[in-house]
Amino acid sequence: TNLQLKRPDLLRSQAYINGEWLDADSGKTLAVINPASGVVIACIADLGVDETRRAIAAAEQAQKLWARKTAKARANILRQWFNLIMANQQDLAAILTAEQGKTLAEAAGEIAYGANYIEWFAEEAKRIYGDIIAPPSADKRILVIKQAVGVVASITPWNFPNAMIARKVAPALAAGCAFVCKPAKETPLSALAMAVLGEEAGIPAGVFNVVCGSSASAIGGEMTSNPLVRKLTFTGSTPVGKTLLQQCAATVKKTSMELGGNAPFIVFDDADIDAAIAGAMASKYRNAGQTCVCTNRILVQRGIYDEFAEKLAAEVRKFQLGDGAAAETTMGPLVNSKAARDVTALVDDALANGATALTGGRASSLGDCFYEPTVLTGATREMRVFKEEIFGPVAPLFAFDTEEEAIEMANDTEFGLAAYFYTQDHARIWRFGEALEYGIVGINEGLISNEMAPFGGVKESGSGREGSKYGIDDYVEIKYLCLGGL
Ligand code: ADP
Repeated sequence: TNLQLKRPDLLRSQAYINGEWLDADSGKTLAVINPASGVVIACIADLGVDETRRAIAAAEQAQKLWARKTAKARANILRQWFNLIMANQQDLAAILTAEQGKTLAEAAGEIAYGANYIEWFAEEAKRIYGDIIAPPSADKRILVIKQAVGVVASITPWNFPNAMIARKVAPALAAGCAFVCKPAKETPLSALAMAVLGEEAGIPAGVFNVVCGSSASAIGGEMTSNPLVRKLTFTGSTPVGKTLLQQCAATVKKTSMELGGNAPFIVFDDADIDAAIAGAMASKYRNAGQTCVCTNRILVQRGIYDEFAEKLAAEVRKFQLGDGAAAETTMGPLVNSKAARDVTALVDDALANGATALTGGRASSLGDCFYEPTVLTGATREMRVFKEEIFGPVAPLFAFDTEEEAIEMANDTEFGLAAYFYTQDHARIWRFGEALEYGIVGINEGLISNEMAPFGGVKESGSGREGSKYGIDDYVEIKYLCLGGL
């Protein structure tokens, strides 16, 4: 590999269990490939069920001591982890770009974004409050305390190899849980680099473990069946989330599910069109369209449809597609060639059913992971792009006439993660904002995710919230203590 790191020790190929760096029992390894070049970056330990079980057992032991530390002590370690991540931001970004493909600027942004959750929950660790409740009889007192749920298992996707883990591990550790994470097989290196810095920050052995491998169903199967795991936190597709929920039912685990989305982006006649274009660019094309809050369907009121389409296409034509590590690149490849084939099939379906590509509309000649940033006009509800998550740099534009039609189209999906709309009418802002069946709504704003706000979906987009003062709730249990005989 040609990765130039200030700290080459951040690039690890062994797994991290109970404070030790380990190969797979089987000796097997798994290649991690740079999607821009096809070059192998590292061959990592390819773990299975046995190592996962050992990691969970180690976490169970470590959790007891970790939870007994003062909140302030846990906070100080998390704060130190945040500091180390930010001090190594460029190296972490270089590793992330190499394994995932996004541009270096976006990768550095992701590192800071993820670190913000660690900083935030370092602070929130000290703000886990109980209650004292009025008793029904004079000789009793009712107290409520909140305690860590115990061992947390985490399964995360490849689109944010650092931040999806940071958003989960930060509240878990703040609350006093121990954590066993399975990164996506495409992007384990960012998780392992986080472990190097976590160890340096003083996270005790066993409190944070990284179990990497090629068999998601083997590792995930152990995580979801092992009774020592009290909670599963998952980010990924809705079908896999449903499977994991079923598997967790057998031992009644708590779950947090951040699943798929089908975000509508609605532009009304009275919108500031230039602001809407900027918002659409940010929410649609970030990470080459591979985020769960990415705009999936752009609904434009008919009076401004043509103007909006032309302006959007003009902006999209400015993208410089290429290797994310190159300075001039403004959009990287998709994560792998299957992702590019999936996007191709969705666009081909739209084109075959009457859509027009104002720009793009085909795979790029740069390599089999690249797809040209695309704007489609004349999209209709019969096309796959209306119903399915695109996860690529493709914006289909649907026309609508009335606000009633817009809300009906916007909510016509089993998903409910993020939605966006642009209007200058403040009565409509409330009316439409309240009518959208989504967990997150951007109003005249395309960038909605930060550590201070609650991130999460409704309907089949999942349950639980990450970030904000609510985020810690997913990692604590409520215990009621009844004092009698007073
Ligand atoms: P994506 O489309 O983002 O890859 P997936 O839901 O397929 O979404 O993957 C998200 C995470 O879920 C990845 O870490 C993947 O390895 C994991 N995963 C996929 N299938 C299973 C499974 N059957 N059991 C456990 N984890 C799984």
